[in-house]
Amino acid sequence: MARIASKSHRQMVRTDVHDKATRSFNMSRIRSKNTKPEIIVRKFLFGKGFRYKLYDRTLPGTPDLVFPKFRTVIFIHGCFWHGHEGCKYFVIPKTRREWWITKINRNKQLDTENIKKLGKLGWKVITIFECRLTPKNRDKTLSRLAARLAK
Ligand SMILES: [Zn+2]
Repeated sequence: MARIASKSHRQMVRTDVHDKATRSFNMSRIRSKNTKPEIIVRKFLFGKGFRYKLYDRTLPGTPDLVFPKFRTVIFIHGCFWHGHEGCKYFVIPKTRREWWITKINRNKQLDTENIKKLGKLGWKVITIFECRLTPKNRDKTLSRLAARLAK
């Protein structure tokens, strides 16, 4: 899959829409690996005894975590790049508005297609948006996640 965001685009987003607090919890990425939110989820689940594969390229969308035993994959999505509706971290920059809207809609479309393809292959898909992993929301999100996986 082609890398969607070039470095300059990422930096532009940071300067345009992200204040310092937001930037410290980096929302502005689309296919970087080993991001802070991913590490939070991985550490938690590993501690709970779950075992997983990372970035399985043989599966649609290269899911961030793959649990063969549960036939489940997890995507951890940045709120900006994946257009998290109603989320305070999803703010379209004022400059080049149309361009951003097209880009993010395309990302959302790809997400939907990947979920559909995975479903057809018999995989259960869990999507976690990064705002659900801020210090305030983290505990609740993670305990729910563990419960869903073990089901
Ligand atoms: Zn969000």
